[in-house]
Amino acid sequence: MSGPESSNRVNQALSNCYPLIDTHTHFDAPLFDSDRAQQVQSAYHQGIRHLVLVGYLYQHFERMYDTKQLIDQLSKRFGIDTGEHNESDFCTHIALGLHPFYIEQHTDAHLIELAQMVAACRPLAIGEIGLDTFTDAMKEPDVFDKQKRFFEAQLDTAVTHQLPVMLHIRKAHAEALAILKAHEYDAHTLGGIAHSFSGGEQEAKAFVKLGFKLGVTGQVTNPNAKKLRRAIQAAVDTYGIECLVIETDCPDMTPIMCQNSNSQHSAVGQSPDNEWEAAHAHDRNIPANLPWVLSSLSELLGVSQDKLAKQLWQNSCDALKVNWAYPT
Ligand SMILES: [Zn+2]
Repeated sequence: MSGPESSNRVNQALSNCYPLIDTHTHFDAPLFDSDRAQQVQSAYHQGIRHLVLVGYLYQHFERMYDTKQLIDQLSKRFGIDTGEHNESDFCTHIALGLHPFYIEQHTDAHLIELAQMVAACRPLAIGEIGLDTFTDAMKEPDVFDKQKRFFEAQLDTAVTHQLPVMLHIRKAHAEALAILKAHEYDAHTLGGIAHSFSGGEQEAKAFVKLGFKLGVTGQVTNPNAKKLRRAIQAAVDTYGIECLVIETDCPDMTPIMCQNSNSQHSAVGQSPDNEWEAAHAHDRNIPANLPWVLSSLSELLGVSQDKLAKQLWQNSCDALKVNWAYPT
């Protein structure tokens, strides 16, 4: 899609602006260093009021806190611009966790440091954590065993501090469910999100039954994502729209109407040293694209955007065990 056409479509979303919570981002990625301030402003104008920075590598935890501090300063500037600032205009939050995709980079020292940081800083959540057997190398028994061990240890940290978890589960839903069931982690009490949910209908219902919300990304904007759409519909048919939250997972998972190139492959994890090096080529996703997830979900479920936005706000608060006031 050409630039002018895509900006027209973005403007359509802008004309129906609803308060939204981006429950999962990697907005601290260097890919946003050149225009982060501008992107925060765009997100704000698209209705985004809370944004969660989600951890994946220990070495980037400090960068996440620096990014939060920067955005906090920027959002104060909006208040001056609009003359109606209050502290909750645009809030950034942090989840800390060691991502299963990068399992070979994590050490036991990182686990200990993570537990100490959680005790000292009390992040919003623990994440993203879980299991991922996307590549053959990750199915190797020693690699997968290490993923399980790190997942369990981080679940323990969440239980110790009574914090919700952000799950990253890819091609390992049955194994993850088994670990969750065997653990003391109770999502009905602690909350939690199965981020960028990618399982089938039965798995979707199984995670919701355990108390998790399903995190829906820009993948839902693709009419060909039939398995995902059926899974969301099945979970909603059984449990209602209370089981969903939305996220951009930026810079990944770009909504289909915001893509300029034909490349469909994920930039995440392509290169562990520079995780999103390829993302510019594949159309970097941004927090301001979140309304497209709302509009596609609204169409899929036959629920008005207005009603859905309010419910998603409440669902996000329930999943994260917070009580953020819905802006009026
Ligand atoms: Zn993520």
